[in-house]
Amino acid sequence: MSEIRQNKLTGEWVIIAPERAKRGGNLRQPGEAVPVPSYVATCPFCPGNEVDASDERFYVNDQTGNWALRSVINKFSVLSGSGELAPATESTVCGESVNGVGLHEVLVETRQHDLLPAFYPVEHVAQLVEAYRHRFHAFYQDPRVRHVIVFKNHGADAGASQQHPHSQIVGIPIVPGQVVERIERSRRFLEETGLCLACTIIAEERTQASRIIAENERFVAFIPYAALSPYHLWIFPKDHAACFSTESVETWKALSQILHLVLTKVYGLLGNAPFNLVIRALGPREAEAPHFHWYVSLVPRVNKIAGFELGTGMYVNPSSPEDRAQALRSAG
Ligand SMILES: [Zn+2]
Ligand SMILES: [Zn+2]
Repeated sequence: MSEIRQNKLTGEWVIIAPERAKRGGNLRQPGEAVPVPSYVATCPFCPGNEVDASDERFYVNDQTGNWALRSVINKFSVLSGSGELAPATESTVCGESVNGVGLHEVLVETRQHDLLPAFYPVEHVAQLVEAYRHRFHAFYQDPRVRHVIVFKNHGADAGASQQHPHSQIVGIPIVPGQVVERIERSRRFLEETGLCLACTIIAEERTQASRIIAENERFVAFIPYAALSPYHLWIFPKDHAACFSTESVETWKALSQILHLVLTKVYGLLGNAPFNLVIRALGPREAEAPHFHWYVSLVPRVNKIAGFELGTGMYVNPSSPEDRAQALRSAG
């Protein structure tokens, strides 16, 4: 029989139904190695084509003086970087609106078109983490920005429109409903118990240990108790902190190390599977917030979302989180 679990941090419900995997068809096959060239003349992110993505806001050079990674204004930004944030221009029974100002950058992660994140040297993951931190922090200096999201879509099935490895940073002039809801959940837990919900979950996960994937001095990676999909995993700092950009150098170094390890493990098990990576954190002004605990979410896109999920907000996970954690723990 399946089991219905609730994720306490997100409020989401999921049907854990490992026997469903036997049905077939629901799970994508592990990503296959489709040959990709290391350079594509028409790619706007490949070296030599910088003019196609020229509005540069951040870069790191390699030892030869060439850029190693760079962040540029997204040419197809969902928000406009110029203009003031205007209050609701209209508010009707159908909804309200503000003008779409905000910031949207694309972070070109490497010069090499075909380099998979699982093959980044750990030093390069550290540069990537530093770029995330830098842009996250800079975005929050814009008074129009209320919430910043750092994310990565890897593979077309995870929403990537460009093959060249890249991440995105978006500064939004509102706090999205899902984010507000999760902050409120954690705030209520703090009011009721005096504790941070995530700190409590981390302690419980470490005690149970059955869903832990990897740990280092400062971080723990695990599959949540109510994972929405197979291999859906979280990386949490062990010490309480609400904001990721105000952490210490040692913490970012430890994050790079565990992220590198987790990407290697996911690749070892799933090959070049599509995935989404998201950093969920409050801004520097709320760094001391006792109720929110920042984290990284990594979701390999191995199962398909269909009408049931859209219609209920519930998910069906055709695997056991404990079983999948065990597989990732032993993956190389
Ligand atoms: Zn390219
Ligand atoms: Zn905490």
